[in-house]
This record gives sequence, structure tokens and C-alpha cells, in this order.
Amino acid sequence: MTAEERNQEKRAGGLLIIISGPSGVGKGTICNELLKRDKDLALSISATTRKPGPGEAFGREYYFYSDEEFQEILDKDGFLEWAEVHGRYYGTLKSRVQEIMDTGKDCILEIDVQGGLQVYQKMRNSCVMIFVKAPSEEEMLRRITGRNREKPEEIKRRMQTARWEMTQEDKYQYTVINDQLDEVVENILAIIREERKEHASAINR
Ligand code: 5GP
Repeated sequence: MTAEERNQEKRAGGLLIIISGPSGVGKGTICNELLKRDKDLALSISATTRKPGPGEAFGREYYFYSDEEFQEILDKDGFLEWAEVHGRYYGTLKSRVQEIMDTGKDCILEIDVQGGLQVYQKMRNSCVMIFVKAPSEEEMLRRITGRNREKPEEIKRRMQTARWEMTQEDKYQYTVINDQLDEVVENILAIIREERKEHASAINR
């Protein structure tokens, strides 16, 4: 077997790397860095019924759908998982994940805790569960208010959800604290490398 074939065999499984954690913790920035630094990673772009924020585009941050369109996908069993977050629907498209898996890459899912746990229940052996925390609650609030995207009542709602999400941390395999971006990204890349090795030896066993 050539090195390339061995490599392909190792990659055959395809990991689902679930990145969850409270709103405002910087998951988006972290995921962008992960994608830049590791070309074997690809992001699953989710569907949502929330409206696009300033500078957001259809098919880049999300597939922004109406309630009816979202329901249609749901009826066709098109979601790997879905959840209601802050009064809007969010879901991981099976088709998008499959496309990524077909390329042999590992798939990043930046999703909430409810969704993360659903995926874990369905595909436990392929999942790497990573919970991202802010250094403190004050810092979390500062980050949510600082990005100027949500109205005050929306911020309040996001803080409530964030507090609940913090109680779910122990359901995740790994916790990382987003203090220094570079450090947290390197920590996650190290986790991914380890998990790839584990996964490869499990499927070659
Ligand atoms: P935002 O509106 O700030 O982009 O996302 C709100 C929350 O929804 C975040 O916690 C984000 O991780 C989560 N989210 C984004 N996409 C999905 C998804 O496909 N499924 C689930 N369950 N949560 C998602």
C-alpha cells in the first residue's frame, strides 16, 4: 500500500468536529482560523430561520430560509440535527455534511449544545465534542454586547441561553477556554490531530 493509499484509508472515516459553547464566545472566529490552518477541515454551513445580520450572506454564514422552507427540509428528513435557539430554528444539513465527507475531509459543526448532543447520539464513533468557554461571565457579556449585532432584549435572551449552555459543559469530551485566539486554535488543532490518530487506528483495527 502506498503512503497516499494509507493516508486515504486513515481519512476514510471522516470526523465530525462539534464546536459548541455560549453565544459570543468567539466560536466563529475560532472556526475560521481552524479552516485556514488545516486544509483537511471543512465547515458545515447550517440552515437557519434567523435573518441575516449586517455583512452576512446566504450560503456563506448560513443558508437563510423562511420557516416554510426550513419545515420543508425537515419534512424530507434533510437535517442531521436541528434545534430552536433564541426563538429561531437552526439545523445541520445532511447533504452538506455528506458532501464534505465525500471529499475525505473532517467536518466542523459549529452548533449549539442541543444539536451537539443529538449528533453525538447518532454518530458517537465519529464525533469529537469540543466545548468553548469565555474566560469569565463578564467577558462573555462584553463580547455579546460588543459585536453590536443584537438588540438589548436579544442580548438578554442570549445571556440566558449562555448560562444554561454553561451547565452542559460536562457532556463534552473537551473544554477549551478562549482567552488567546492563537492558543485556543492550537489547542483544538492538537485535539483534532490526536483524535485522527485514534480514529485511524480504530478503523484499521
Ligand atoms: P448565531 O445566530 O449567533 O449565528 O447562532 C446562534 C447559535 O446557534 C449558536 O450557538 C450557534 O452555534 C448555533 N447554531 C448554528 N448553527 C446551528 C445548527 O445547525 N444547529 C444547531 N443546533 N445550532 C446551530
